[in-house]
Amino acid sequence: MGELVARDRSPLGLDAELLSTCVSCGLCLPHCPTFRVTGEEKYSPRGRIDAMRAVDSGTLPVDDAFVDFIETCVQCRGCEPACPSGVHFGALMEETRRALATSGAITPWWQRLGFRVLGHHRTLLVGSSLLAVAQRLRLVPRRLGLPELAVRRIPRLESTGTDVWLFTGCVMDAWQRQTHRSTAELISLAGSSFAVPDSQGACCGALHVHAGLHDAAVALAERVMSSMPGDGAILVNSAGCGAAMKDYGELVGTDAALRFSARVRDINEWLAARIDVLPAPSGPRSAVIVQDPCHLRHVQRAHEPVRTLLGHVADIVELDDEGLCCGAGGAYSALQPALAGDIRTRKVASIDRARSASGAQLVASANPGCSMHLSAVLDCTVRHPVDIVAEALRP
Ligand code: SF4
Ligand code: SF4
Repeated sequence: MGELVARDRSPLGLDAELLSTCVSCGLCLPHCPTFRVTGEEKYSPRGRIDAMRAVDSGTLPVDDAFVDFIETCVQCRGCEPACPSGVHFGALMEETRRALATSGAITPWWQRLGFRVLGHHRTLLVGSSLLAVAQRLRLVPRRLGLPELAVRRIPRLESTGTDVWLFTGCVMDAWQRQTHRSTAELISLAGSSFAVPDSQGACCGALHVHAGLHDAAVALAERVMSSMPGDGAILVNSAGCGAAMKDYGELVGTDAALRFSARVRDINEWLAARIDVLPAPSGPRSAVIVQDPCHLRHVQRAHEPVRTLLGHVADIVELDDEGLCCGAGGAYSALQPALAGDIRTRKVASIDRARSASGAQLVASANPGCSMHLSAVLDCTVRHPVDIVAEALRP
């Protein structure tokens, strides 16, 4: 285990006031996916906070068990809205991971290499094309849950004006450009033009924050901010990216970053505020099951606008699990496949109950990671809400 370098006054450098807000009531436990599938206190928010306290006060060492408690957290932040004391669990987890990554206890070199590619958009596009060829040769197992990638991608979006910025991201631009097309159509139907940032503004750094790579995340955030100057709204159609960009003020710690974060809107939020401008759908209404990505529901608290938007063209079917995580968690499904699979099994059971009760065979998810993770095992279609709405509004 690597040596922890003490920053501030304690081994993990955690804010003592933040740590003390947890009163160990346990109300968050039922909302934690890793506690739900293991039943073990150490895999609950309360257990993880207790372990952070013990390590930060020097009572316990950073050992394999502590690293396991931290690495198995999905960082879904389902514990935050459930907590009556307002514990900022995400901040505690990110700071802990930062200390562990700095000491080399987590995020080994091969993971850092993978995260670095996300910031080099051309490399990512070339790699994605090679992956698409490998898929055609049946060399990529379906359980990985990757969408069928195009060997020749549809062209990149061209800016149509300057009313708003449309953030296109890294993996989403490489793998799910069709959703950008749908987003562009809906922005136009709402009467606005959009500008697309250059490839410098491709990666928001969300996965780097999750991995504890603080400096890399700040560098990417600086690039993203400088790629979208001005004061226009910044629209994001990936829940994980939007959550990260709304947090740039905290991450970068400057007034400019705070101002930038205040401009960020999830695409569902922005379109829901303009729902009266959108044309009426011409075809019949279908039933759509809504899956809430954690970073939309628990972090951005912007899951209701999805219902407003989808409700314009479809009948909403709710799940019965109160927004419990699906287990995707950015890179979590690849790094913790067993737990991610168990968590997904609970979500799939909830989706199956909704399908049986309603007859709906279409699931909407506003986060690419969730939709890929679920698509790997579901025998029905998972689509982004904007894809569903744009298709329903096409002549
Ligand atoms: S995190 Fe909040 S809900 Fe969970 S045990 Fe602590 S105070 Fe209670
Ligand atoms: S962030 Fe999610 S997985 Fe981690 S402790 Fe909170 S509820 Fe559990």
